[in-house]
Amino acid sequence: MTHERDTDLQADIGDILVSEAEIAAKVVELGARITHDYGGRRVTLVSVLKGSLPFMADLMRAIDLPLRIDLMEVSSYGGSTTESSGLVRILKDLSASIEGEDVLIVEDIIDTGLTLNYLIRYLRGKNPASLRICTLLDKPARRLVEIPVDYTGFTIPDQFVVGYGLDYGELYRNLPFVGVLRPEVYGEGEPVEGEPA
Ligand code: 5GP
Repeated sequence: MTHERDTDLQADIGDILVSEAEIAAKVVELGARITHDYGGRRVTLVSVLKGSLPFMADLMRAIDLPLRIDLMEVSSYGGSTTESSGLVRILKDLSASIEGEDVLIVEDIIDTGLTLNYLIRYLRGKNPASLRICTLLDKPARRLVEIPVDYTGFTIPDQFVVGYGLDYGELYRNLPFVGVLRPEVYGEGEPVEGEPA
């Protein structure tokens, strides 16, 4: 079904929470910290598609270390639009072994933490030398499980955000900033995957 606003994505945004310039500066800062902390060791960045794609692409270029990347894609079971179930299905697995590797998970956003909680246990089972977490956005207000986050870009309030990889109904990922969707945008039309809580 077509959506009459599809051609004017930016008009659907209320507040810009994190601007393009703020993201760029934060990526440089995080990259420098990671470069320093790993002290020349090789690191494997594991990113979770699709939302983390722009962050991964930018962050990897801000890290001055020998570096491998791998990509996973997961989806939550259960159709609830308000909370993820914590049951995660792996749609795309790692393409190489991470045994003995220093692994850094690169995430777009941590909300309830259930997805990442599953992923951490899954990746720990593959015996990496170390496992750390870097997230661009953190929404601690809705956290259901404690997640040991090592690198956080921005802590944001409990609002549904889109842009810089984050979608609503698979759209808005290409916006260069992180913004809040106007409520009237998700208040209309048929329910779609990724509906805000
Ligand atoms: P969690 O398991 O932490 O509740 O969910 C994490 C996933 O939910 C994220 O990777 C992202 O796909 C989705 N998510 C959580 N909050 C938001 C949000 O504000 N906007 C968008 N677009 N996705 C979100």
